[in-house]
Amino acid sequence: MGVLGAYNVQNVSAVLYYGLHNLQHRGQEGAGMATFNNEGQCFRFRGLGLVDSIFNNSVIETLQGNIGMASVLYGNVTKGGLDNVQPLFFHHRSGDFVVASDGQLINAKQIAEYLDRSGTIFHTSLDSELMAHLIKKRNNEDRIHNIINALNMMDGGFTFLIMTQNRLYACRDKYGIKPLAIGKLGDGYVVSSESCAFEIMGAEFIRDVEPGEIVCFDDKGIRSNRYACSRNHYMCAMEYIYLARPDSDIDGCNVHAYRKEAGRRLYRECPAEADIVVGVPESSLSAAMGYSEESGIPYEMGLVKHKYMGRTFIQPMQQMRELGVRMKLSPVRSIVKGKRVVLIDDSIVRGTTSLKIVRLLRDAGATEVHFRVASPMMKFPCYYGVDTPTNEELLCSNRTLEEACATIGADSLGYLSPESTDASCFGCVSPCMACFTGQYPTELYKDELQNI
Ligand code: SF4
Repeated sequence: MGVLGAYNVQNVSAVLYYGLHNLQHRGQEGAGMATFNNEGQCFRFRGLGLVDSIFNNSVIETLQGNIGMASVLYGNVTKGGLDNVQPLFFHHRSGDFVVASDGQLINAKQIAEYLDRSGTIFHTSLDSELMAHLIKKRNNEDRIHNIINALNMMDGGFTFLIMTQNRLYACRDKYGIKPLAIGKLGDGYVVSSESCAFEIMGAEFIRDVEPGEIVCFDDKGIRSNRYACSRNHYMCAMEYIYLARPDSDIDGCNVHAYRKEAGRRLYRECPAEADIVVGVPESSLSAAMGYSEESGIPYEMGLVKHKYMGRTFIQPMQQMRELGVRMKLSPVRSIVKGKRVVLIDDSIVRGTTSLKIVRLLRDAGATEVHFRVASPMMKFPCYYGVDTPTNEELLCSNRTLEEACATIGADSLGYLSPESTDASCFGCVSPCMACFTGQYPTELYKDELQNI
């Protein structure tokens, strides 16, 4: 998922629309946008599908005002259909407000039970709705105290944007698991799950929202509040490895630079004798460049991605994922034929995609396919909003390296170590690597513990 917000920005809906395009990689199942005009009237439009298929000129023109927020969503969240597409809008006697979130609460069930006991009726299964109910439960005069109280009841990896007629709040979980960046645009401000949205919006990156911080944008400017003190910073390693765009900077570390360093380290840890290095487009290309530079083996474009196809990892159904692989990648026969290929991928989740790519290369004439993965073996599910499958579905949860290699049909298989995954951040953060190591940065609740 990805969230965007803008305060005091002219043509805010058009600016958010362009920003959404640069967050499209974070979710392709649905998108929504909401704005307030000066009279406090809220305008909202949501839809299922890609940003381009949801918004057009006439829709953008109806979203009036100079404060707004938007989001893109992926499969699991949109299971409930359009009702579950953010941002969510709430009427309240103290003023209307809008909420959107990225990530996942690990104690959502407990909070829902708590709210349920006092008679709350839910319209969606989203964390944003829990946030809205918790904010209004206290109903102090000062809204920031209500938000702080709500955040102190929440646990997990998340970011929230909350918008009223004249104020925008940007909140980040106290562990710093989910990214959230602030930019300056003219006299106003923008916030985004990733800084790559700023370029197309014409904004300039200022800084990241800190773990445990609530940043408030209003007519007094930009103000910071802390709802929790964090000693550690557990940015999600998968953001650097796969999810984020290479032109994003997250917590001081550029995503492309991270991946290239991971690729260099991967060669040092798992060298292969081969004629060419081929990266799986597109999130693995930076790591493939690093592997090629470090090894001296030439980098070649042995696979081409068909544009405009969704990312396999975030499509909701296995059937769609399997269909998707063939439709989205083509081998370049004249390049791979007769060659020993080192194939670099950012990660292996189920292994079904990996098996198909190895077959594609062999069918195109590759004599050997040595699979190298620029992250550790994924063995555990994520509880912070990244849509990883259950333990049984993960390739490596119950397989040795040799068994995993045989399952995907490669000549050899090698993974980056957790130590090198950490070191590839250049010391900016010590990332969450729970899906590789099983060491979760938060407490786990009964439901999560049953799945490990
Ligand atoms: S468990 Fe994995 S996917 Fe989830 S936040 Fe941690 S590193 Fe990211």
